[in-house]
Amino acid sequence: MTGDDCIFCRIVRGEIPARKLYEDDEILAFHDIHPVAPVHFLIIPKVHVASLYEAGPEHQAVLGKVLGMAGRLAREAGAADGFRCIVNTGRVGRQEVYHLHLHVIGGPETLPAMLRR
Ligand code: AMP
Ligand code: ZN
Repeated sequence: MTGDDCIFCRIVRGEIPARKLYEDDEILAFHDIHPVAPVHFLIIPKVHVASLYEAGPEHQAVLGKVLGMAGRLAREAGAADGFRCIVNTGRVGRQEVYHLHLHVIGGPETLPAMLRR
């Protein structure tokens, strides 16, 4: 899939609505349409990168920015006492949207343990 028919590229271009929390030239943050916790939003690079498998040295700056904004945006969104970041990748990682995105998940309650043993 290229950026043309990618749902998150379409959000970046304004072709699909999203509840945005933050936007600049390089990154965009918006609420997940199916939240799994009171705070659940996504931070994406505006450039189309399908997954962490496709990320290379040329993406390090923008991916650093994605990660570097998570704390500030989580606090502003109401997750002031901790949150979890997830980047699902590929089939095993259960990635559904092939435009690299950071899930930021939190809220007042403690999250369940990361994975069941
Ligand atoms: P994954 O690729 O498994 O990390 O998950 C993709 C995430 O994108 C899911 O949590 C979806 O609920 C979310 N999602 C899909 N379409 C939209 C949309 N149009 N706006 C906001 N979130 C979306
Ligand atoms: Zn895309």
